[in-house]
Parts: sequence; C-alpha cells; structure tokens
Amino acid sequence: MQDAPETTRAQYEPAEAEAIRAAFVATGAAECPRCRAPMLRRAIGGGSFGLGYARRREWMLCPRCRRSAIFDAARGTRT
Ligand SMILES: [Zn+2]
Repeated sequence: MQDAPETTRAQYEPAEAEAIRAAFVATGAAECPRCRAPMLRRAIGGGSFGLGYARRREWMLCPRCRRSAIFDAARGTRT
C-alpha cells in the first residue's frame, strides 16, 4: 500500500461541513466531527489582498481522517 490516489479523498457530509463552519465562525477553530481531532486551517489563495472585501474561503483539514471542508468564512466581518 502506497499513497492513496486523489480520488479516494474523503469529504464530509453537508451537515458536518456546516458544523465545522459554525464552530470556526464562533471560536476561530474547529474539531473534526468524526474523530474529534483539532482541525488544521489552511488559507486558500485566490483573491488579492488590498482589494477590500472579498470572499474569504477557509479550508479546514483533519489530520487524522484526512477529510477536509472548504467554506466561506467571511460572514459578519464587515463593519
Ligand atoms: Zn477526522
């Protein structure tokens, strides 16, 4: 057994991804709903800084089960 191919990358159920997003928005961190491991946060490039408001996408990755969730975390950041 060697590296898992890309196609086996697991995803969360929509309800799980929403729970991760809600936890992140509320506390700035999230844990995996499946194995309760603290999730790693990765920034997703794609917008330029300095353009003012832009959608901010967050990528939360579980180091244990390797599932990941991508969501828009920009809610409530405007003044
Ligand atoms: Zn996990």
